[in-house]
Amino acid sequence: MQLNHDTRWALDDVVDLLNTAPDGEAPDTLTSVEELRAYVERNRISHSGRLGEDDLREVRAVRERLAEAFAAPDTRTAAGLINSLVAEAGTTPQLTDHDGYDWHVHHFAPGASLAQQLAADGGMAMAFVIVSGERDRLRRCAAPDCGRAFVDLSRNRSRRYCDSRTCGNRLHVAAYRARQRESSGDGAPAR
Ligand SMILES: [Zn+2]
Ligand SMILES: [Zn+2]
Repeated sequence: MQLNHDTRWALDDVVDLLNTAPDGEAPDTLTSVEELRAYVERNRISHSGRLGEDDLREVRAVRERLAEAFAAPDTRTAAGLINSLVAEAGTTPQLTDHDGYDWHVHHFAPGASLAQQLAADGGMAMAFVIVSGERDRLRRCAAPDCGRAFVDLSRNRSRRYCDSRTCGNRLHVAAYRARQRESSGDGAPAR
């Protein structure tokens, strides 16, 4: 999938935002302005405004809508959800080379709130994925106790786990142990 850096970064921001949502045992990790600030910092999101309770509430609402678009049952539904999200965010493409980054396009309007920024850039990044016919790359981890969001950027679209070092590996170990048990006779049928 051909993705420019902006789109890739914006998708990473979307994925990290979705993964702050509570899921099974995993708690909600976007419940305070501090946690919102931590999210902005770890994703190096350039946002100059002060963040408050309003931002928290609005970003949580955007999180919900992005999750809905991410999990949409078909492309038309996803397209409708993304269209309304980016329209409400007042999307305004702007070429910029701020902070020493090469020229790239911001989709959020100057002075946008953080929620509008995430909705515009995240929504447009998902729009590009749909336009490329790659919507099936927006995935949830296949490990039974996980379900974290990720974007499969592998050449053959074969990635199934959010992080191969943890989820994928954990399952490999479980499969290996199961095979060991079988070959050592533990699980062999009685004769
Ligand atoms: Zn930028
Ligand atoms: Zn996982």
